[in-house]
Amino acid sequence: MAEQGFEFNADQWQAWCLLCGKSRSTSYNTADSLCPDCIERYQDTFFFRRIPRSSLALSFTTIIPEPKSIPAVIFQRGYKDLFLRKSRGVLRYPRELLKELFPGELDIPCGQPTLFKMPHLAQFAGLGQTWVLDMSTYGLSGTHKDLRSWAVLSKAIEHDIKHLALWTAGNAGLSLTRLVKRWNATVPPRQRKTVYCLMDDSVPDEIRLELRGPYCWTAELSTGSGAILSRDQLYNMVAAMSGGKAEREGYWQVTDGWDGVGLFMYSLLAQQCLQFLRDELTKSNQQESKIYVILPIGTGNILFGFIRGMQRFGGQRAKLVAAVPYGDHMMQSFVPPEEKQREAEDAQGPRRMGRAEPEAPKLIGFYSPLSPCLWGLTQEKGFKRLETVDIIEVDRAA
Ligand SMILES: [Zn+2]
Repeated sequence: MAEQGFEFNADQWQAWCLLCGKSRSTSYNTADSLCPDCIERYQDTFFFRRIPRSSLALSFTTIIPEPKSIPAVIFQRGYKDLFLRKSRGVLRYPRELLKELFPGELDIPCGQPTLFKMPHLAQFAGLGQTWVLDMSTYGLSGTHKDLRSWAVLSKAIEHDIKHLALWTAGNAGLSLTRLVKRWNATVPPRQRKTVYCLMDDSVPDEIRLELRGPYCWTAELSTGSGAILSRDQLYNMVAAMSGGKAEREGYWQVTDGWDGVGLFMYSLLAQQCLQFLRDELTKSNQQESKIYVILPIGTGNILFGFIRGMQRFGGQRAKLVAAVPYGDHMMQSFVPPEEKQREAEDAQGPRRMGRAEPEAPKLIGFYSPLSPCLWGLTQEKGFKRLETVDIIEVDRAA
């Protein structure tokens, strides 16, 4: 049986396929995870062939929540409100500007990232300008996961979801747990939430210790690298951990990529950054300049948030470049063996898909709920085209 889904406010949120870009013409439901058209597209490709068709929809997601209207004011404020701030700007929380979308009364700030200029880096690289988006200023875990945790908890409050479970390599669990602890301290017991963290064995001990406590349960998940678990398998583990308390009705699976709202928040951040950069270029009469955004690929959440955000700008959008660590990495799994062979033979090619020791061992697992979307990226190529995402491998020296 699939995990019971809940529907986001039907007046505001619609379901939207991240891969084929079609609206599902229904409101977003957390149990609606894969677009039927896209299942047809994936199932015979190299990467997905080994996963039974019946498990596809329970293992991956492409459908995300998309509001029917987003207040334009969010993007025009830029740089000192909501998603971005100057180093001494006012700290605000998303609810101040997103009341319609997040009516849950979560009045705890998650922190804000800073966008700042790096003139010497621009000079070194021979670029017009270089800006860095620093997300270490988020307040809970010091990572972009905090923005996502805020949206997840806000929706959980709105829908009276009591149990939140996630499969985590550390940061996502830490971020959500810290936020939930703060929330729990402010409300009577019946409104408190419980977080269940299923952890890879790579999670450091200090994070493990912090994740344990009242209203937070942990369990280790030793699957071996590259395992794919479905939502049902994770649910069964959580049901066992909670002794049956995490009934499906009040339960939400929020592994990074399955929640949907994280991606939505990153798409807002992307739009605000681009709006700000376009304004800066206009001020200096450089509105025709191209903008490139370089992002790391982890599970693909922040990257796909930016992809979605850029789509709204049409020809004014930035070109996205995804960076993977040199050596073995996530995107390797999406390149068919024949193509890998060809690329190895063709030393002139721009991509180095070497099998060197990984620079970032944490990022080599091939599972992400967004795998279909990551795979989709490898199908579209062409550096000159704004819509495609180019992938570069980066080593320590770079
Ligand atoms: Zn689709």
